[in-house]
Amino acid sequence: MGKIRSLPPDVVLKIAAGEVVERPASVAKELMENALDAGSRDIKIDIEAGGRRLIRVTDDGEGMSAEDALLALERHTTSKIASAEDLFAIHTFGFRGEALASIAAVSKMKIITRRKEDLAGFEIQIDGGMVLKSGETGSPIGTNVEVRDLFFNVPARLKFLKSPGTELGHIGEAVARLALANEQTQFQLFHEGRLLAHYPVRAEAAARLAEALGKEAGERMHRFQYHDGDMKISGYAGDPGYDRPNARAIYLFVNRRPVRDRLLYHAVLEAYRTLLPKERNPVVLLFVELPADCVDVNVHPSKGEVKFVEGEKVHRAVITGIRRMIERLPGMPAVEAPLQEVRETASGYARQPWQEAFPLKDPETSPKAWTVNVAERGGRSFLGQIQQTYLLFVSADGITLVDQHAAHERILVEKLEEQFFEKEISRQLLMIPEVLELSLSEAKSAQEHLQDLGKMGFALESAGERTFWIRGVPEVLARREPVKILKEMIHEISSWGKGTELSRSFSSLIHMLACRAAVQASQKIGYEEASSLLSTLESCTSPSRCPHGRPTVIKITVEDLAKMFGRK
Ligand code: ADP
Ligand code: MG
Repeated sequence: MGKIRSLPPDVVLKIAAGEVVERPASVAKELMENALDAGSRDIKIDIEAGGRRLIRVTDDGEGMSAEDALLALERHTTSKIASAEDLFAIHTFGFRGEALASIAAVSKMKIITRRKEDLAGFEIQIDGGMVLKSGETGSPIGTNVEVRDLFFNVPARLKFLKSPGTELGHIGEAVARLALANEQTQFQLFHEGRLLAHYPVRAEAAARLAEALGKEAGERMHRFQYHDGDMKISGYAGDPGYDRPNARAIYLFVNRRPVRDRLLYHAVLEAYRTLLPKERNPVVLLFVELPADCVDVNVHPSKGEVKFVEGEKVHRAVITGIRRMIERLPGMPAVEAPLQEVRETASGYARQPWQEAFPLKDPETSPKAWTVNVAERGGRSFLGQIQQTYLLFVSADGITLVDQHAAHERILVEKLEEQFFEKEISRQLLMIPEVLELSLSEAKSAQEHLQDLGKMGFALESAGERTFWIRGVPEVLARREPVKILKEMIHEISSWGKGTELSRSFSSLIHMLACRAAVQASQKIGYEEASSLLSTLESCTSPSRCPHGRPTVIKITVEDLAKMFGRK
């Protein structure tokens, strides 16, 4: 007898299931995609124990007949394509007909479904791929798929699952991805009965930015659009000062299907090259739309990878689309652009913001400075402040202008982030504690987030239903009034969705703190302070922009001067 034999069907099924079902989030994704394919306008996701115990997706879509529901559970049964040619004209999320079968093979599943035209619903229970029972049941129109005890019969997989919190995070991410691209459908995510995320029906995707990515995203992301033949690139991208430590806030969609595609990631990062510090990532929502026969989505069972027929063209279009938007943002110096094409379209120096500040209104304000010998001063001299807002330096190779507030903000943000990641923001204890009076609801969120506020450098102690003692404040605030900023922060924290973690939302708080603590415009600055501000700024990881994306420094080199005076 030879050594090769056919694998028993249940083993084959488990192997196949492994490709589609990696973790609870993949189950949630497949079930939501089915709901969307069924034309649902209202999708509810219930999770227990991070998805280990329960993943239930309830939709109001077209439902299935009893016969179809039984068929749907078999492998390679689908209503979405009929032949191989159809594979190149896919308009639905599903098409391989294996998600339900795969999930059923590794869980305890129950499906309840009813079509509009049927009087009763139909229910199927299936354990590890074996149908236990099926029959009529009462049901609203739509489909309800319940997946319990995922991987109960695949202990090896079970071991790889992360903590419920982590798995829930992935599920939340999957919901956000689909919600961002399907604004005409309501999504509600519940964990242990608590509403974690809610995406009401919206008129356009933009309205979902704030819901999926936080309030700041709503304000700092800008629309872009670009056509090339029948390919359309569109979406929203953050200004270059709005960045993240990882690529998780880059959302890619091809024909509305969420994908993780290297080529697209690369193009997005390329669009921001030189505008973002290394290892930082932009926040981008990118939709690529092109004829179904120009893209192959059938690369992997999870359908997350795609192949473009003309990858090069797509790559270029994405860069151009995003670049053009960034170029138009106020205060973006076009000269930094690495792309040849962009450089050509830049309209020279005509719109540069520093022109407003020139010439100096009254050189007499710092008469001594004009006589400073540049070379003697280690190459750079501070000449003075313009409108107590901009610092002016000269050196042998040109002129440097600094926005004092923006520059200081940048310095503080980096310092605070460093402290935050190391442990917590450095705190200064107050000799005499201050009183913080809040509204009831503010007090509630403050109480809930005492630890988070502690990480931000504030030591609060409850002193009654609505009052707290402020015992410590972030060092950077120095003697500045802490009450106002605390109230702002608590207000911001209370606007977070339930379950939002500080680790994901800290940057808005740090920005607030930096903004408050930084020197303001129209504040007097002396020689020493100015010089140290500039040299500290230069040691920052991303010195050229403030946290809001405005420039901190503008350099006019001698080459620029020569050009402006028509010497070349
Ligand atoms: P695919 O989505 O690739 O077709 P699935 O295994 O995910 O494969 O689903 C099999 C079939 O079951 C689908 O083609 C569809 O006809 C039906 N189906 C699955 N989920 C739903 C749902 N929520 N509402 C209506 N029909 C569904
Ligand atoms: Mg499917």
